[in-house]
Amino acid sequence: MRIVLMGPPGAGKGTQAARLVETFGMKHLSSGDIFRAEKASGSELGRKLSDIMASGALVPDEIVVEMMAGAIAAVDESAGLMLDGFPRTVAQAEALDTTLKENGTPLDAVVVITADDDEIVGRITGRRACGSCGKGFHVKFMPSGKGDVCDACDGPLTQRDDDREDVVRERLAAYKKQTEPVIAYYRGSGAKVIEVNGSQSPDAVTADMVEALRSLGG
Ligand code: AMP
Repeated sequence: MRIVLMGPPGAGKGTQAARLVETFGMKHLSSGDIFRAEKASGSELGRKLSDIMASGALVPDEIVVEMMAGAIAAVDESAGLMLDGFPRTVAQAEALDTTLKENGTPLDAVVVITADDDEIVGRITGRRACGSCGKGFHVKFMPSGKGDVCDACDGPLTQRDDDREDVVRERLAAYKKQTEPVIAYYRGSGAKVIEVNGSQSPDAVTADMVEALRSLGG
């Protein structure tokens, strides 16, 4: 199964992506993770990406398309593929169509997780991760049992630069302006677009997605 997973920042894509991999076993490529790894490598490209990402703006299409085409070519997708966070513009979607057509591997579905703006801001600005072991927390929904430090290893809890409220609002604006048209693009091109209500509990979101994706095969 080959799918694109879309949704505004904070709609729960990361959590749901992990669960879909567990259920269907496909390969998962997250553009945000790929860019963060490049940033962590300290390369010149990584420094450029870091500035753009810290502002909440989108990375230019040429860079995204080249990096993602390379990542798709490098994975063994015989068990399927889930693209998460890519494509985020119509130009990226067109480039992806070309790559998939060349490979003879069309998309089976585009899954869109929806959520409203205020809920998203609350979810994202509360996210924390342990700077030592990486364990994830949320100040409201999943606080550390030890307050400001990690309850697994006593490491300091940190917030991603782009999870601050001003940056989250920028990321939401970029989603509405540049990414929502991608959904219309897929609808117009006849792709199967599955919308799932991301304001439900994570388990309910997973159940809806799994049911919709299973029904594709049948
Ligand atoms: P994410 O973790 O998916 O929210 O991505 C974090 C940041 O990486 C975004 O705010 C963008 O700056 C950048 N990014 C990730 N994927 C893309 C993409 N497909 N196109 C442009 N920028 C992207």
